[in-house]
Amino acid sequence: MIDPIQPLSTMTADDLSPEEQLRYARQMVLPEVGAEGQRKLRRASVLVIGAGGLGAPALLYLAAAGVGRLGIIDPDRVELSNLQRQVLYDATDCGGVKVEQARQHLLALNPNLRIDVYPEAFTLANAAGLIAAYDLVIEGSDRFATKYLVNDACVLAGNKPCIGASIRSFAGMLAVYAAPGGPCYRCLFPEMPDPATVPSCAQAGVLGTVPGLFGVLQAHEALKLILGVGEPLVGALLTVDLLTMRLQKLRLPRDPHCVICGDTPAIVALAETGWACAAQVADATDEASAEDAAISADGLPWLSVAASRRRPSLRWLDIRTRAEFDAGHVPGAEHAPLDQLDRFAERAASTTGEFLLYCQGGARTVRAYALLGQRLPGRLWLLRGGYDAWLRDRLATTAPNDGR
Ligand SMILES: [Zn+2]
Repeated sequence: MIDPIQPLSTMTADDLSPEEQLRYARQMVLPEVGAEGQRKLRRASVLVIGAGGLGAPALLYLAAAGVGRLGIIDPDRVELSNLQRQVLYDATDCGGVKVEQARQHLLALNPNLRIDVYPEAFTLANAAGLIAAYDLVIEGSDRFATKYLVNDACVLAGNKPCIGASIRSFAGMLAVYAAPGGPCYRCLFPEMPDPATVPSCAQAGVLGTVPGLFGVLQAHEALKLILGVGEPLVGALLTVDLLTMRLQKLRLPRDPHCVICGDTPAIVALAETGWACAAQVADATDEASAEDAAISADGLPWLSVAASRRRPSLRWLDIRTRAEFDAGHVPGAEHAPLDQLDRFAERAASTTGEFLLYCQGGARTVRAYALLGQRLPGRLWLLRGGYDAWLRDRLATTAPNDGR
């Protein structure tokens, strides 16, 4: 099956090197791959949007399989709380720029690849150019605004296939959107949900194996599309419930009335209107970027963890869920979940003193302030960065002295 090793001088650019033949031997032996398939993989390019729970495993498998050019776009840095599911990174990466750390790990795995990194958000400004530069797109963001922007950019790029996955707790779905003849993301979900009504992974919780599985499935669909084998999930939607292990493959035809891929589309160009707003709302509910959102949320009485230490009379109020509170909270903090703030306001109205509100990352305290600010004027402070920031502060202030 494997060609005898040829002297380098007689090899053409399209030949697989001895190293490639050895590295990819296990997949090249498949009749669906072979040397020609391996050359297709080497010539292919895939853009991975989001190097997180979905993107990290997807990237590992794409790189291992020898997809010649990978693009990675993600604005974040690696955080300790990422490592539970983003298996591309290790503890020494914490604080580093995610796409740079990803590139280093992927090149260590497979130095033959070209890996382009973009340490920025996927936005209206870069969407069309990025999508045009790659053969396929893997959408691994956790923001609805990004999902819609990616979808629209893929459709408007002349049907660039986008392998999308969404997960929630123990369940998820997978489909190839915007492929020629197939449906797009808007065929399934015409309108973007109000991001405030959908909990992020940070709020809802997730076991790392769930995005792990779906990220691997996204990479798998990409390999199938590149190789031209099997039945890619074009016109079909896979749903998996990993608590019950129920799998379903549903038919998902293109909607002829779809606003962007339908027969008479209303959206004919990527437009600023709607996206800027939507992206801001989505960002404000995204725990990972909550600290940035807090800084830009003008006029709110934010306190940093350091500043809170200078105000010992503040009463700390944890507005997260019971499960989050039970899993760990600031010692001495009272618990008043966001959906029961009315009752808290009644109690607090007959007392004096000031409160310091916190949630996990800071975003939910903005909503709490909207509910309470008028009723307890001048008595509320918000903890910038939330409980995550408090934990990070404790880690920073206690770790060097441990045991000494
Ligand atoms: Zn559509």
